[in-house]
Amino acid sequence: MILHADLDAFYASVAQRDDPSLRGKPVVVSGSSRRAVVLTASYEARPYGIHSAMPLFMARERCPHILVVPPTFDKYRTASKAVFEIYRTHAERVQGLSLDEAFLDVGDIGLDAAVATARGLKDAVRAATSLAVSIGVASNKMVAKVACDDGKPDGLTAVAPGDERAYLADKPVGALWGVGPKTQTRLRERSIERCEQIAALSDEEAFALFGKWGLSLRDLARGIDDREVSSDDGDFTAGSISSESTFERDVTGVDAMIPIVREQAGELGERLRKRGLRAYTIGVKVKRGDFTVVGKQTSLAQPTDDPLVIAGAAVFCLRRAGVDDTPVRLVGVRVSTLVQTPVRQISLFT
Ligand SMILES: [Mg+2]
Repeated sequence: MILHADLDAFYASVAQRDDPSLRGKPVVVSGSSRRAVVLTASYEARPYGIHSAMPLFMARERCPHILVVPPTFDKYRTASKAVFEIYRTHAERVQGLSLDEAFLDVGDIGLDAAVATARGLKDAVRAATSLAVSIGVASNKMVAKVACDDGKPDGLTAVAPGDERAYLADKPVGALWGVGPKTQTRLRERSIERCEQIAALSDEEAFALFGKWGLSLRDLARGIDDREVSSDDGDFTAGSISSESTFERDVTGVDAMIPIVREQAGELGERLRKRGLRAYTIGVKVKRGDFTVVGKQTSLAQPTDDPLVIAGAAVFCLRRAGVDDTPVRLVGVRVSTLVQTPVRQISLFT
């Protein structure tokens, strides 16, 4: 049995937990720059049509009395760490997707025991962090995720083995992983709007629609998903990702280091994207020929996973590290203050 656990309105809930004056009110967590976007909206803000990734000015238009609070990443990391520790004591395997979202493989224990485990997890998370977590219980990852979304907020939704296809039948096709707006448009052109319409396709029809991927999509719509919960998928409670290169011979001059920094930025951008994360803080670490180390970092107005932006910020830091006349043996780029990418499209097939 597999559980999908997702903290409700995570950043906003942390703000409301720690400031009673925010409770019961429409709140968004957001930066303050002119181009800031909503990172999380409280459930009280959602009836106004406010959601994450929406520009802040738009949220203010929709709800002039919205309360805007800045993100507090240290608190998110602390809460996330506590929650993942609880998950690890209840599950055989835990796969973190972001600070507030994970799959748990609880083993071959049957539906009732899995539901009892989920209930225990919800209680333990609330006791430890005063936060609500929604959980979906099912025989596979995708159905567990759909069930989790279904029960929000503070939900516990279970789908019995064998009921997967019936459970998905009436759901919009967008509930299936990998079905984004483009695919939805193509399906709508054929009057396909609900999962059951995909599930009912023959092999030929599914293939005609989207090639090989059509067959996989059809299986998903039937509630079939064989992917395992993999525990080696990175530690999202870790606050940073870095890439370092040691030179065979010492290098002198920032200009000589720029190509290396660009390469590292490219690698970091890819790793961020893979994990659905963006970074607010970019830093460099330089080890001089005499083994002394100097570090510099800078913060961005908007979090990024763009290699060019990361490289630009890293070079900016490098120029301020005061190492231009010094032989250097190692240079590294580090990204931190990681946040979930607001609009995340989970594709199964990349
Ligand atoms: Mg969440």
